[in-house]
Amino acid sequence: MVMELGHKIMKLSMYIGGEWVEGDTNQKRKIINPATGKWIAEAAEGTVTDARLAIQAARKAFDEGEWPNLSAEERASYLLKVADKIDERHDELMALETIDNGKPLREAGYDMSDAAACFRYYAGLILAPHGETYTVPDNMQAMVVREPIGVCGLIVPWNYPLLMSVWKIAPALAAGNTIVYKPSEVTPVTPTKLFEIFEEVGLPKGVANMVMGAGEVVGNEIAVSDDVDMVSFTGGTDTGRHIMKAASGNMKKISLELGGKSPNIIFADADFETAVDYALFGIYCGSGQVCSAGSRILVEESIQDKFIARFVERANKIKVGPGNDPETEMGPLVSQEQMDKVLKYIQIGIEEGAKLACGGYRLTEDGYDQGFFVAPAAFIDTKPDMRIVQEEIFGPVVVFQTFKDEAEAIQLANDTKYGLAGGVFTQDAAKAMRVIKKIRAGITWVNTYHGTYNEAPWHGYKQSGIGSSLGTYGLDEFLETKQINFNLNVEPIGWFAN
Ligand code: NAD
Repeated sequence: MVMELGHKIMKLSMYIGGEWVEGDTNQKRKIINPATGKWIAEAAEGTVTDARLAIQAARKAFDEGEWPNLSAEERASYLLKVADKIDERHDELMALETIDNGKPLREAGYDMSDAAACFRYYAGLILAPHGETYTVPDNMQAMVVREPIGVCGLIVPWNYPLLMSVWKIAPALAAGNTIVYKPSEVTPVTPTKLFEIFEEVGLPKGVANMVMGAGEVVGNEIAVSDDVDMVSFTGGTDTGRHIMKAASGNMKKISLELGGKSPNIIFADADFETAVDYALFGIYCGSGQVCSAGSRILVEESIQDKFIARFVERANKIKVGPGNDPETEMGPLVSQEQMDKVLKYIQIGIEEGAKLACGGYRLTEDGYDQGFFVAPAAFIDTKPDMRIVQEEIFGPVVVFQTFKDEAEAIQLANDTKYGLAGGVFTQDAAKAMRVIKKIRAGITWVNTYHGTYNEAPWHGYKQSGIGSSLGTYGLDEFLETKQINFNLNVEPIGWFAN
């Protein structure tokens, strides 16, 4: 397999049963650098046949292979080696993530470090005790053991190509499962590198398989297959709904991390500059292509003019540019398709009667015209039922809403179908806690935004998901629970007389 940086086109193959393969039809998909519109790689395009081969490889490795039966310590040693290799290749992976996804190097750098840390976290966690025993009548011993689920299908989006993959792959492998993994068809570059690392550390053949290609083809096959025991998906809510239905054939376990439209609530007593700063970070980090983005800013009425003015002043100064320019603060959108979707939502907002306070247009001057750059946008004069307030745009577009009091802030915060995340800015600790307790969302922040840790679960309420990533909760997703009742008095029960 050839994989080169620079102007040469990278060739990306699939990894099935421990072999690099070009796939059933030998078809290729062009992978584009979103900052330049240039072709950087061609990826093997998987088919249903390829997905089935990968599922069979994973099935065989689980049913007949050594992986599920290795000691936790042995599995952990593989994970630790993978973490070390990610660290060794940090700069290369960071650069690849930037040219594939568009995110600035500084963001890609954090992703690579977090990915290595995630493998280390699960290498450690799998060594912790996982079973339980119960005090039952003296002639019995009841206990619970945790076992791998089997073949896990892992399907991920393009916004954190490596990191979202690792959030699933690390706990799935630590738990002793075998995997069939599908990266987003838009961003397969760093995932391919990760599978090179799996090969380098000698992961047994068939334990980790990667099929690239379209969601409706490869992803769907993983979701419907009777030979897959679980599907863990991160992506849009509509796709999640489809996966839920597709997975019902063999009642496979599902775990879904879905979309969001998260509120960032700014009270008048907040530290003003801190709140403005995090409000900008909450929406424009990742060009707004972050599931937990603070895409609705709810400001207390008494400070709205001052707050919006300062926010807009700073949003206009954000340096938009190619991710590999160290000066760049916000990169392009990931693809032409995503840019078109975002620009369409901006048009919808204007037609709905909201006003653009800044940005919202494509950058077309020299050096930008081939890329997918959109100036950071903010809508004011919004109404709660507008589509731009209710729907996930997944781009650098924020909507401002205002509230009079705590009760209205909570009501507006919960007024969407989503329940992924939310933030509160206030210097009144009791108020912060009261509001956080009422927000129907799984990830919340007080006087900060976006930060999360491998130790803590990542989880959506309502239509933002089912199940959790990260922490002990993220490992539990990939484990079965078996009850064992052991008779210590081996003699007939005598229930029936004859
Ligand atoms: P998407 O739903 O379009 O695609 C996600 C993955 O699903 C891709 O690999 C895609 O190929 C695959 N897919 C598409 N159709 C499929 C089908 N019919 N069957 C099986 N697989 C299919 O999402 P996206 O545009 O790649 O990513 C953006 C979305 O991801 C946003 O909604 C964002 O909020 C969400 N997201 C959520 C989290 C979270 O933790 N909650 C994290 C990151 C992204």
